[in-house]
Amino acid sequence: MERPELKQTLGRLLGPAGPEVGCDVCFDELDRYVELELAGEDVDTAIPGLRAHLDGCPACREEHDSLHALVGSEQAL
Ligand SMILES: [Zn+2]
Repeated sequence: MERPELKQTLGRLLGPAGPEVGCDVCFDELDRYVELELAGEDVDTAIPGLRAHLDGCPACREEHDSLHALVGSEQAL
């Protein structure tokens, strides 16, 4: 069962661009990442590789989106 789109995603994750970030690292850093993002900081420099992981990992992407919405709405109050 070949899944070209999965291969493409893995290729992007394992590619030479930046350090490898796994789901465990992503999970640990996600709070900080979202706070930096909402503060307008350069998250790619602060936490290299995490944005690339979010781009290729739907589960973490979803986690990020809900956290972003939550923290964003808290800050707006
Ligand atoms: Zn992930």
